[in-house]
Amino acid sequence: MLLPGSTLGMLGGGQLGRMFSTAARNMGYKVIILEPDPDSPAGQLADEHIVAAYDDETGLQQLGKRCDVITTEFENIPAHVLNKLTTYCPVYPSADAVEKAQDRIVEKEFILSCGLLPVPYGKITTKSEIAEAVKKVSFPAILKTARFGYDGKGQQVINSADEVEPAFKTIEQVPCVLEQRIDLDCEVSVILGRNAHGQTICFPVAENIHKSGILFQTLVPTNASENIQKAAKTAAKRMADKLDYVGVMAVEFFVTKKGELLVNEMAPRTHNSGHYTLDACITSQFEQQVRMVCGLPFGDTSLLSPVVMTNILGDLWGIDSKSQPNWQSLLGSPTTKLHLYGKKEARPGRKMGHFCTLAENLTDAQHKSTEIFNQLAP
Ligand code: ADP
Ligand code: MG
Repeated sequence: MLLPGSTLGMLGGGQLGRMFSTAARNMGYKVIILEPDPDSPAGQLADEHIVAAYDDETGLQQLGKRCDVITTEFENIPAHVLNKLTTYCPVYPSADAVEKAQDRIVEKEFILSCGLLPVPYGKITTKSEIAEAVKKVSFPAILKTARFGYDGKGQQVINSADEVEPAFKTIEQVPCVLEQRIDLDCEVSVILGRNAHGQTICFPVAENIHKSGILFQTLVPTNASENIQKAAKTAAKRMADKLDYVGVMAVEFFVTKKGELLVNEMAPRTHNSGHYTLDACITSQFEQQVRMVCGLPFGDTSLLSPVVMTNILGDLWGIDSKSQPNWQSLLGSPTTKLHLYGKKEARPGRKMGHFCTLAENLTDAQHKSTEIFNQLAP
């Protein structure tokens, strides 16, 4: 067990690393971030910041030598980097687990190997696979690059079989999946902590509303049925077990209009749809990550209050980031908590922060948070 005073390494300097640093430092741990951006959200709050590329030999050596354990907030850390760091100290999650989440083709094969249902898809790695892929879906479908997509990036809607080849060309024929576009009843996610003894604890199931492929709001408790919630937790746990996962991970699900539960994707890290835990659960997902990588017992994941988490995107800053959102209404709400990530530059679609609104019931929380959100636009 790593006790307070130990040094925790974090690969990646984004907002997830920032909130991890806060949780860890609150508990008396030291945090060293490795991140190429000299002014990153996490670098601002960590004890130390090694400014280096994720595969920089010298940077990795510095990090490895000084840490008691290393974790990550970013799924695109190269697997060989995680493996190399294990020569210095334990690294959670493992390279193998992270690698499975880096590539949609590998990920979907993994979901199938767990006996779970991915969204119907066909893989396309060369032009010759298009004909086969087209048979596996009906249209409209979505073409998604296999690697490096996030917040809806690397995706395009395909309305008919003829559109696949031109679309594949515009993405320069990188490997991708052609995915059925699902008629969604709702989207839910499960965030769980798993320890080195193979025990798992889930946070309450989150219901997620996306706009243009980017998470807009998370609602907890979800309106999804008890059966769906149970099935989602069981599925997420099965995936974590099969990966022999240690740390915090997230699984995103689609619930179809027919009531089927499909696995969308997984994240080998804390997740945007778990930010509600900061203000509405006994333990936050970030504290749970600290606990898991340090070998501490689980923190209680109970929900203290209905909550709506709303993302604040860069669109709310004026042109050239010259003006700020209008904070009056948000700050004037005594049951709303603001979290900003310290990003200097606002860009459309860029996650700048979020807020959580607590209320006696979900309807009130939803009403209040939407009212606040509508007041933010300058
Ligand atoms: P990202 O890695 O960008 O999060 P996702 O595959 O999770 O990529 O897509 C982002 C969002 O776009 C989803 O949460 C969902 O709202 C919508 N979406 C993606 N794929 C589908 C699909 N096959 N059917 C319906 N909606 C989809
Ligand atoms: Mg997603």
